[in-house]
Amino acid sequence: MQVCYTINELLSCVDKFKEEKKSIGLLPTMGALHQGHLSLAKRAKAENDVLICSVFVNPIQFNNKEDLEKYPRDLERDIKLLEEINCDVVFAPSAEEVYAEEPEFTYSFGSLENVLEGPQRPGHFNGVATIVHKLFNWSKADRAYFGEKDFQQVAIVKDLVRQFSIPIEIVECPIYRDEDGLATSSRNVRLSPEARAIAPKIHEILLKSASLMKTLSISQVKGYVEGEFKMRKEFTLEYFEIVDAKTLQPVTLKGDNKIVGCVAVWLDGVRLIDIQKY
Ligand code: AMP
Repeated sequence: MQVCYTINELLSCVDKFKEEKKSIGLLPTMGALHQGHLSLAKRAKAENDVLICSVFVNPIQFNNKEDLEKYPRDLERDIKLLEEINCDVVFAPSAEEVYAEEPEFTYSFGSLENVLEGPQRPGHFNGVATIVHKLFNWSKADRAYFGEKDFQQVAIVKDLVRQFSIPIEIVECPIYRDEDGLATSSRNVRLSPEARAIAPKIHEILLKSASLMKTLSISQVKGYVEGEFKMRKEFTLEYFEIVDAKTLQPVTLKGDNKIVGCVAVWLDGVRLIDIQKY
């Protein structure tokens, strides 16, 4: 496995892979890897000749300075974990090199970014699109792997590919959960043992909402989920929305379209997100 710390090092690896006609899978991450990341990495490695995994805490997608500062970082451990699953290249550039030039372009995703995470995290998706677009260009990957936990991010990335006609396949991967149901996240390590013990409630409430969806209306299900979070003082609900899986617009009536519940909730000073497909 090669670790590339500069863009030129990565470009040389990619040139070699292209000469050898190898298919390239890309997994963009911000590091502090957990089993969720590794489930994507293993799939990407199985579906492509080579796997490039980027580890880069992208400063411009953080709208909260404290969140950026507290974001866990452990590159040495990440490299070891990736080595174990036979990753071919780890790309860990510096922010100074990636943003040697201040980005001038502003991405626009219309109604896809005016909901859910968008209003809560101004500039977030512009930051995501900026780095993902660069990674697509540098890696010349055939496929890129993204987790459904960041449901809106997948929709935004697909739209980026559409708007810029980027020849890459976006592969959506299911959420990996700890045994107790909590979606694994780099931020979970910041939870106190007490908070970690009640965090699985998020998935539990969402699962229950899926069974209620069979008999109740959408607004009743929404009310149930909001009520469950509000009655537990440990949680501060930021949003819960039931949206169309394609347009991400809130839905009020059941129809033939696929719908999904998206939640962002604070627990012990940590912001956690999760989804439930209905
Ligand atoms: P991050 O390092 O948080 O930017 O995540 C990198 C990629 O891993 C994103 O596409 C995430 O959606 C995905 N990911 C993070 N956590 C999980 C999880 N628990 N299950 C599946 N994918 C995940």
